[in-house]
Amino acid sequence: MGRLGKWIEPFPDGIYVRPADAWIDPSSPKPTALITHGHGDHARGGHGQVFATAETLAIMDVRYGEQAGTPVGYGETVRVGEVEVGFVPAGHVLGSAQIVLDHAGERVVVSGDYKRRPDPTCAPFVVTPCDIFITEATFGLPVFVHPDTGSEVDRLLHRLHAEPERCVLVGAYALGKAQRLIMELRGRGHDEPIYIHGALERLCRLYEELGVPLGELRLATGVPKEELKGRIILCPPGALNDRWSRRLPDPVTAMASGWMRIRQRARQRNVELPLVISDHADWDELTRTIREVAPTEVWITHGREEALRHWCMMHQIKARELNLVGYEDEDD
Ligand SMILES: [Zn+2]
Ligand SMILES: [Zn+2]
Repeated sequence: MGRLGKWIEPFPDGIYVRPADAWIDPSSPKPTALITHGHGDHARGGHGQVFATAETLAIMDVRYGEQAGTPVGYGETVRVGEVEVGFVPAGHVLGSAQIVLDHAGERVVVSGDYKRRPDPTCAPFVVTPCDIFITEATFGLPVFVHPDTGSEVDRLLHRLHAEPERCVLVGAYALGKAQRLIMELRGRGHDEPIYIHGALERLCRLYEELGVPLGELRLATGVPKEELKGRIILCPPGALNDRWSRRLPDPVTAMASGWMRIRQRARQRNVELPLVISDHADWDELTRTIREVAPTEVWITHGREEALRHWCMMHQIKARELNLVGYEDEDD
């Protein structure tokens, strides 16, 4: 047998699956694209045809207009060229999938983005044994160990109740993080209306249509200051410090992101209450996942590849870094 995975070719703008003549999460328009999930650095508009879960296609429809999409459910497979293509849950955001490729007696799993912690808005990550595991490494340094999500949400609620004359304004990515935070708050008994920036409205509504109940949400725009005292308001990170937020009653500025582990990042955004809540695997989750998947080779994308490659070598797993471009922190 020759080198494993000869039929998978990493290019700067995506992973090309030659016997399927298809690209995974390409950063430029391609005739055929297999998409792991709806974040902007993975799902882009303009492809000829798209294979993805129904939820991911619905998210892409909202963001880019109607897709020429073929929905593939979790656990189902579809034949693309000479490759059997399957989608299994990645636990990252609603509809997120690892893509399982079977060809020539080899199995390659492309994780996309993933995490192992419970997320009430999406199906949990499924360990899929394979020959080559292509993993992300956004938080691929031992220093990144995310705290318990529940304790971060408790800190938010505690702060809210401690200063009833203020509001807590939380920056959260529009796809995934915002809805997860809302569900986590509901799960901890916060039944009050939650106010949202207009930019979160369409995706919150879509989550509800797809069966994720978010409780009472109200648009924050145009609401009198008095009504917003003692309330939680969610906005995209970009709106935290802009003119929009100046009309709010003395907001406690918070942000929910894995990067809040780094104080400097919190300071850059004037975040008073950093909440370390991430939709990506931390170091322990990355290494645990590689152990459980037990692949012959690990290919690493998307982040701090070097430390994880070293860890693999120390554990007698062959590893290489793929240098893909265009993946950003949109979705941490
Ligand atoms: Zn990503
Ligand atoms: Zn993502």
